[in-house]
Amino acid sequence: MTTAQTLFSHLPATDRLLRDAAFTALLAEFGHTRVVATLRSLQNEAREHIREANKLPDWSEDWAKKTREELEASQRSALLPVFNLTGTVLHTNLGRALQAEAAIEAVSEAMRSAVTLEYSLDDAGRGHRDRAIADLLCELTGAEDACIVNNNAAAVLLMLAASANGGEVVVSRGELVEIGGAFRIPDVMRQAGCTLVEVGTTNRTHLKDYRAAAGENTALLMKVHTSNYHIEGFTKAVSEAELAALGNELNLPVVADLGSGSLVDLSQWGLPPEPMPQQLIADGVSLVSFSGDKLLGGPQAGIIVGKKALIERIQSHPLKRALRADKMTLAALEATLRLYQHPETLVERLPTLRLLTRSAEDIHQQATRLLPVFEQRFGERFNVRVEACLSQIGSGSLPVDRLPGAALTFAPKDGRGSTLASLTQTLRTLERPVIGRIADGRLWLDLRCLENEALLLEGIAK
Ligand SMILES: *Cc1c(COP(=O)(O)O)cnc(C)c1O
Repeated sequence: MTTAQTLFSHLPATDRLLRDAAFTALLAEFGHTRVVATLRSLQNEAREHIREANKLPDWSEDWAKKTREELEASQRSALLPVFNLTGTVLHTNLGRALQAEAAIEAVSEAMRSAVTLEYSLDDAGRGHRDRAIADLLCELTGAEDACIVNNNAAAVLLMLAASANGGEVVVSRGELVEIGGAFRIPDVMRQAGCTLVEVGTTNRTHLKDYRAAAGENTALLMKVHTSNYHIEGFTKAVSEAELAALGNELNLPVVADLGSGSLVDLSQWGLPPEPMPQQLIADGVSLVSFSGDKLLGGPQAGIIVGKKALIERIQSHPLKRALRADKMTLAALEATLRLYQHPETLVERLPTLRLLTRSAEDIHQQATRLLPVFEQRFGERFNVRVEACLSQIGSGSLPVDRLPGAALTFAPKDGRGSTLASLTQTLRTLERPVIGRIADGRLWLDLRCLENEALLLEGIAK
């Protein structure tokens, strides 16, 4: 017999392995079907290894151990919890806003139980699913009515489709933004069946430009918040209030896509101010849309507030049915909005605001506290230091403004990019991966979003 054949004959039979005491626990935990399927694929892998290397794979010493590793790896969730130390608080790729405890509880309850989603307890009839939250939104924003959909992109599409299909929508050339992915205002217009009418120039648009563009086919005047970029210098934009006054005069609805928006005045915490939906409603804007999971700090959702007659058209549009939010989103959103009824405790209870308002000094102290642990673990190959840094709000909010904070930085002593890459890899493969950012040939772990310090230390110590 050739060596390969001898080696093949050394591979244990699946049946024999399954009778092994070491497999009893695996069978109980993962079930017969998955254990057998994993063993089959390991057998193939071993045969392949023998053909290529003319020896048994190292792991074949302990089949139960290898099988467990494979099964555990395949169990790993696709939504693995991580430490967001990127320095971007509302990180779209990491799931944006962390939910408030009240929202988490409300969602769990709604998942476990039947709920009064479209059911009114008074007359046992069918209510409409946004009703309760719409009332809450009216209270918070002063609007006449509201509508909730899957996200703000959906809200913009629906606002346009329901109020301007077949008509012209006038937008400033300075506001024809791309938000990311395939969301570009001109494309959304087309999808909604509207004709885009561009007015003004990239840097300057005047009220007279809107007035000149309005004609018999005009359905809407629109403002889009340029959330993710900023132009400076010789600029001019028409405010929502001015445009609302013109809309009023011409008898045309004015809609605004605010992007993030904030229901509270952020400047009270020294944060850069962001437009507030309630202000736009007070200014006379007919419809305002914003995201649930940006500065609002709730679940992914799109919120439209505004005039009753327009919201009614939106609620009865067929796209509303396609874009509506589910009971979990609505439960989380309602609980989040209720926190705004009690502004005195908002910073404490709303994670997004809590993280955004952390002082640089507090974060600096935390970094100093953590430094020795990271030095101990990584100090041999890296110069580990505490450094001042600037965090971002993220998700297109306030793109230029930065929040002062602190980070742990890791500079490879050998100055090599590959050493740095191996560190980011090590941190990414922890049980709860740690995600930082690379800049200036160093790894930066911005601690603004680190609340569970003990859990991070536990992961690093392992
Ligand atoms: C973020 C944003 C959107 C998209 O909102 P999503 O909730 O992510 O769908 C649309 N318009 C503007 C101006 C935005 O900033």
